Amino acid sequence: MINHLIIGNSAAAIGGVEGIRRSDRENPITLIAEEPYPCYSRPLISYYLEGKVAENEMGYRGADFYAANRVEARLGVRAQRIDPDRQEVILETGEVLPYDRLLIATGSRPVTPPIKGIEKKGVFFFNKLDYARALRQYVSPGSRCAVIGGGLTGLKAAEALVHLGARVLVTDISSCLLSSILDPAGAEIVKRHLAGSGIGFQLGVPVVELAGDSRVEGLIFADGGSKAVDAVIVATGVRPNLEVVSDTGVDVGQGIIVDNQLQTNLPGIFAAGDVSEGWDIVLQQRRVIANLPNAYRQGETAGRNMAGEKVVYPGGVALNSVSFFGLAIATAGISNSEDAGVEAVRYLKEAEKIYRRLNFREGRLVGYICIGEISRVGILTALIKSRTPLADKRQGLLKGDFGLVDLPEEVRLSWRWERGELTWRF
Ligand SMILES: Cc1cc2nc3c(=O)[nH]c(=O)nc-3n(C[C@H](O)[C@H](O)[C@H](O)COP(=O)(O)OP(=O)(O)OC[C@H]3O[C@@H](n4cnc5c(N)ncnc54)[C@H](O)[C@@H]3O)c2cc1C
Repeated sequence: MINHLIIGNSAAAIGGVEGIRRSDRENPITLIAEEPYPCYSRPLISYYLEGKVAENEMGYRGADFYAANRVEARLGVRAQRIDPDRQEVILETGEVLPYDRLLIATGSRPVTPPIKGIEKKGVFFFNKLDYARALRQYVSPGSRCAVIGGGLTGLKAAEALVHLGARVLVTDISSCLLSSILDPAGAEIVKRHLAGSGIGFQLGVPVVELAGDSRVEGLIFADGGSKAVDAVIVATGVRPNLEVVSDTGVDVGQGIIVDNQLQTNLPGIFAAGDVSEGWDIVLQQRRVIANLPNAYRQGETAGRNMAGEKVVYPGGVALNSVSFFGLAIATAGISNSEDAGVEAVRYLKEAEKIYRRLNFREGRLVGYICIGEISRVGILTALIKSRTPLADKRQGLLKGDFGLVDLPEEVRLSWRWERGELTWRF
């Protein structure tokens, strides 16, 4: 008998279960999860906050997932540490669980920025259902809410709060929104759109303190300015949950280092998702790629290998696809770099809030920003992943409605029109 053990219960963990069960229907799988809920789709928490989806509509898989896959799900308990020599996982309760194959899929958690008073009542993070629930209780129409961090998570929280009737201010240390993925031209379009939807901004000045006694009452900025608020949402980035592997001999960089089969340096131990540092196809180096499709595919590959297959994951690409108040934004790979080696071609229609920027390096597409017109981004992503030479195709691909004629001849044969969409057959 082989004991499969999985720590985590989100995209990477579920991928792990489904990967194992592709070829191994027999051996037991135990899953340990700190959150007390069946697996849910994390990106939906902002829609839950604004009341667009109910809690019972957030499932990442159906209610019978664990039973159908013969998984013993231990929900609401934290794995404290692993002991690789004894092949055991020790839970916070002191219980010890043996394993033969272990998948670490512990994801990431929010960074706590060095802001005085951040522990006050009325301050929330925004990475899990519990925070969305608590915010829903705390905020009412007319509440003054500040979101610290103008990245994807912060802006999704801001949008939901506006829909709840709150008055929302977004602050960021950077003068650009979404500064890790957009360039100034793209950020300006998004800012204008969000401002038109009712969000206020204070950008380029850090918040240094949260005022109030036990409950937050205001923001204090580094330039001495201040703003009265009733609630604060902190969304200043995430970092991998690495505690279970500390002092275990598992190699760690920014995340748990894995090879192309999602194995760590220790036999029988795999890692996947936001906690892992795998291969980035574009950068051609290892890094943490924190997005849901990558987490699932890494988890599934890990699961298949845990079950004895020999499957290689070619690597992931940094991808984002999101919309704010109806404005669609998609980015991939090297999206906002101004490096000399990156040649950017751009197409901007400011009034229509349309911006497309494609980045090429050595004749290959290495990233893009598409705002307001995101058709065909799936094909652009496939072109990035396949590292297809595109020397004379730059301008053609820039159009939102490019067709087969805009693709290099040698790859046209691998593409098909299906139901009005271009589809790539590998
Ligand atoms: C608001 C929001 C919106 C997002 N939107 C998008 C989007 O539109 N598209 C996209 O691709 N990605 C999006 N993401 C990111 C995406 O959700 C993550 O990349 C993905 O969930 C990562 O999956 P994971 O399984 O690696 O880890 P996680 O989803 O972080 O799950 C890890 C799980 O492990 C549990 N855990 C951690 N430590 C332990 C322990 N010691 N013992 C037991 N359990 C433990 C955690 O409680 C958690 O349940 C969004 C994230 C947020 C917060």
